[in-house]
Amino acid sequence: MNLAKFPRRGYVKTPTPIEYLPNFSKALGNKVNVYIKRDDLLPGCAGGNKTRKLDFSIADALAKGADTIITCGAVQSNHCRLTLSWAVHEGLDCHLVLEERVKDSYKPEASGNNFLFHLLGVKSITVVPGGSPMLEEMEKVAAKLREQGKKPYIIPGGASNSIGALGYVSCAQETMQQLFDMGLKIDHIIVPSGSAGTHAGMVAGMVGNNVDIPVSGVDVSRPRDVQEGIVRKLAQETLDFIGANVKLPDQAVTCFDAYYQPGYSLPNDGMVEAVKLLARTEAILLDPVYSGKAMSGMIDLIRKGHFPQGANVLFLHTGGSPALYAYLPTFRD
Ligand SMILES: *Cc1c(COP(=O)(O)O)cnc(C)c1O
Repeated sequence: MNLAKFPRRGYVKTPTPIEYLPNFSKALGNKVNVYIKRDDLLPGCAGGNKTRKLDFSIADALAKGADTIITCGAVQSNHCRLTLSWAVHEGLDCHLVLEERVKDSYKPEASGNNFLFHLLGVKSITVVPGGSPMLEEMEKVAAKLREQGKKPYIIPGGASNSIGALGYVSCAQETMQQLFDMGLKIDHIIVPSGSAGTHAGMVAGMVGNNVDIPVSGVDVSRPRDVQEGIVRKLAQETLDFIGANVKLPDQAVTCFDAYYQPGYSLPNDGMVEAVKLLARTEAILLDPVYSGKAMSGMIDLIRKGHFPQGANVLFLHTGGSPALYAYLPTFRD
């Protein structure tokens, strides 16, 4: 599919590596060969998946004459850190609206991404209770800034609209070219599924290019039926936005929802095991909220024999390691 017609800033200069994980595969009994796509190494302060989406979102903001970016996320949001980071890079102001999804979880002095919000010079942080209508809350901030003569542009949570999802359509196309160059056949791709732009973009990219590699999401916040509906809707909107003239088959979107309990951003044993195992076998850092839970899902699926013996499974590493530093007691042995 032709993405060249969409403006973008060029934040992604080279393909992120696809690496084989020999020690990690061995630790799981060599039932499958685990590969990882290192989107944790994308450019932008401390890396991660939002850079691919913001490449398109911020290009749209600049095309519309914005001088200020407003976005939202949870209190340790990687998306907020990366939006702020690219705003700094572009010389734009950035204001954040943080949703306290877990009551009393906002700590002004917290480490991790929160520390980086301040270090990167955020213009303002507005904290709102969990369940608040985030678009309306961002509109309130925008209205105030307009009164001051600013030209704000709102990026939705996770940059998960059809503009941002183009970043992961592009990732799907990049991945297929890499697999061709490497002569590697991948049987299954696993991605974290949150605000859904990553999962939806990957699915749209695969389906739109007639690639039959299944892409499964591991939910980090919602039950399966709800999440699958959100991903399907965004994937179809993205295909339509590209002008692909493709009807997404229902079975193109599947999620696993057994790995995020007790709830979004709250630690569980599988996540802790996954983070430690990848760190101690391959020295690659996951995060507690997204990639750690998604990897714990993949580990469980491998152990249960969900993938055929000898299959090649690719894990999309979406980044997030700065959040580890907000969870120190969780990882002490
Ligand atoms: C935002 C995020 C995700 C989830 O991606 P979505 O597009 O929101 O589904 C996964 N991992 C990390 C580290 C993230 O910051």
